[in-house]
Amino acid sequence: MTIDSSIALDRTRFFIDGVWTEPKGTETHLALEAATEKPLGRAALGSDADIDAAVRAARRALDEGPWGRTTAAERAATMRRFAEALAARAADTATLVSRENGMPIGLSNAFNGDAPAGLLTMYADQIEAAQLEEVRPSASGSTVVRRAPVGVVAAITPWNYPQVLAMMKIAPALAAGCTVVLKPSPETALDGYVFADAAAEAGLPPGVLNVVVAGREAGAALVSHPLVDKVAFTGSTAAGRTIGAECGRLIRRCTLELGGKSAAIVLDDADLDTFVAGLDNACFQNNGQTCTVQSRILAPRSRYAEVVDAVAQYAREMVLGDPLDPAVTCGPMASKAQLDRVLGYLELGRASDARLVAGGGRPAALSRGWFVEPTVFADVDNRERIAQEEIFGPVVTITPYADEDDAVRLANDSEYGLGGSVWTADEDRGLALARRVRTGTIGLNYYLQDLGAPFGGMKGSGVGRELGPEALDSYLEFQSVYASAAQL
Ligand code: NAD
Repeated sequence: MTIDSSIALDRTRFFIDGVWTEPKGTETHLALEAATEKPLGRAALGSDADIDAAVRAARRALDEGPWGRTTAAERAATMRRFAEALAARAADTATLVSRENGMPIGLSNAFNGDAPAGLLTMYADQIEAAQLEEVRPSASGSTVVRRAPVGVVAAITPWNYPQVLAMMKIAPALAAGCTVVLKPSPETALDGYVFADAAAEAGLPPGVLNVVVAGREAGAALVSHPLVDKVAFTGSTAAGRTIGAECGRLIRRCTLELGGKSAAIVLDDADLDTFVAGLDNACFQNNGQTCTVQSRILAPRSRYAEVVDAVAQYAREMVLGDPLDPAVTCGPMASKAQLDRVLGYLELGRASDARLVAGGGRPAALSRGWFVEPTVFADVDNRERIAQEEIFGPVVTITPYADEDDAVRLANDSEYGLGGSVWTADEDRGLALARRVRTGTIGLNYYLQDLGAPFGGMKGSGVGRELGPEALDSYLEFQSVYASAAQL
């Protein structure tokens, strides 16, 4: 395979069985920096044969290698070393991801820099405290109720929060005693191998964590591989549907973290300054390339004009530019394909009866990079495509509602059920309303993901939960060993 040696950040080998391994195929991906469109590095893309080698290594590490026989305390100690190795790289990793996908650096420091090490530590603590075997009296003696690792985990991740989304799978999997094949998305190929660098430094036994960047076809081969026990997937609802169907056919465990089209409900007593201060995380987080963004704003008729003006002004004042500049609040889209997708929705919005009140195109001042102006459409019918489909860019719609029941009806009028928020001066009223919204998470007067609480979607946004102590459950299987009293 020929790689252009003038490019700085090449990643031309896979991490399989603890060894940097030459690809069996020839396909590569040229990563471009989102803000400049300049080459960042080239990555090899895995073939079915590379995926097969990685799964076999993971299987061996579980069945023959030491990992399947480790105690929880031994795994926790390894995970803490892994966390230290990642923490030492945190600033560089966050910078790399921002260059790959355009994420503002402050957000990247939190989610790509600090969060992975934090999650490893959190699950190390939890597995040490967990009771993995319990003896219960039974009618004929006693039963040992065990919690065993689910087995070989295929972790498939998207490009928008590549580090934290991967670690949301790797950390509970390792804690439970599983082994992992991570398949990051080609768009964020380069940062995926930071896990391998850190795992090698921390002395993870060979095969416990394997990293192969690959496209969709090799991803499908990973999902279907006969030696995989569980698929942990984050990505689009379209891909999730295919993967879920295949897992159903194979009776294979899976968690699916999928798309969203969430609503921010502004109640008539809301403090608009609080709402505007929360817009960044709630509605525009990561340039709108966040699964939980509340890209539909529902405003009471009594304060409709006020809300529209406040959101439009906020969008106009967002600072576009290099995501590595801490003053920048909106970076570029992660890829040309993503830019084209968002621009397509802007055209749809303009062609609808909606009223464009901010943005609406590409910023004239930025000729390089995949930038889109933060855009606000008002007077949007909730059944319009721009209010129903995930745009995944800095684009929000505003829809008026008559009363609380109407607001709840509109919020739930979506195939998705991932995030949301309620803005009100009365938190009890907000909580009562939040309980009626069918989403996996919802914020009161702010929205920020809590890594200590279960996270995931209802309806078309997915199956299962990640994060929090609850996520360990999906990497463990119960086994009941019936034993007579005399044997124990
Ligand atoms: P995507 O579905 O195109 O790809 C995600 C990953 O799956 C990539 O690694 C891709 O190569 C792989 N893939 C795609 N099709 C596959 C198949 N049939 N079999 C196996 N692997 C396959 O998604 P994307 O464009 O990379 O990411 C954006 C999407 O991810 C958005 O819809 C967003 O809402 C969603 N997302 C969800 C969450 C969540 O937690 N619910 C978090 C982040 C992103």
